[in-house]
Parts: sequence; structure tokens; C-alpha cells
Amino acid sequence: MDFIKKIESGLGLVTKRSEELVEVTKLKFKKSSLEKQIEEKQLEIGRIIYLAYSQNTTGNEEVAAICNDIKELEKQIDEINKRIESSQPPEIKCPNCGAVSGIDASYCSKCGEKLLTCPNCGQTLAEDANFCQKCGELINDNAE
Ligand SMILES: [Zn+2]
Ligand SMILES: [Zn+2]
Repeated sequence: MDFIKKIESGLGLVTKRSEELVEVTKLKFKKSSLEKQIEEKQLEIGRIIYLAYSQNTTGNEEVAAICNDIKELEKQIDEINKRIESSQPPEIKCPNCGAVSGIDASYCSKCGEKLLTCPNCGQTLAEDANFCQKCGELINDNAE
């Protein structure tokens, strides 16, 4: 029974990781399409100003409306950047050689040093972690 549970939780982890990767790819795709839209709108502003100038009008209102659209798009890009950042898996530095491993590594990929893991859930922990970032287990009760 325990064995099956272990397999299930292992599979769950793998699925979650690949889902995160797909998510980041999608976000990056969305971001570049938003950036394209901004470029197009900037070109449009150029056209409007040119037309306005040649017709002796200002074109200010149209330009202002497009500038607002661009601001909206920039906000969306900001949001996407934040989400991309938060879905990057955190990394753990090896206390022995300083090489960086993924948060799900139990041993350093460079020197084989055992990395600190949570006694409760098995999550790899940063050297100076006081609490497990996954389950909240107290790791270092000398923390003040
Ligand atoms: Zn190492
Ligand atoms: Zn834990």
C-alpha cells in the first residue's frame, strides 16, 4: 500500500513539473504576442500623427486612446512576468561545492553531497531554511 502511494506521489510530482513548464511556455508565447500588439499600436500612432500633421489637425484624442491601450497591454505583460517568475522552480545551493541543483534534488549533481531535505515531506531545503517551504515543518528550532 505504501509502495503504491509512493509511486502515486512520485507521478504527481512529475506531472506537476511538466505542467509548470507548459504554463511558462504558454505565458512566454502570450507575452510576445502582447509585445507585438504594442509595436503595432506604436506604428499606428506614427500613422495618425503623420495624417494629422498633413491635414493640419492634432490627432491627439486618437493618440491618447491608443496610449491607454498600450498601457493596458503593458500591465498584462507585467502580470505575465510575475507569473513566469513565480513558476520558476527555486534552486538549492550545495553547501559543499556551491553548485546549484533543482529544488527536487536530494543530492548535489556535481559532488554528490546529500542536500538537506524536510523530514516530513522530503522537500529539498535551503541550507539556512528554518521552515520547510512546502509543508511548513519546523526545520531549525534554534531560529530566533
Ligand atoms: Zn556539491
Ligand atoms: Zn516539508
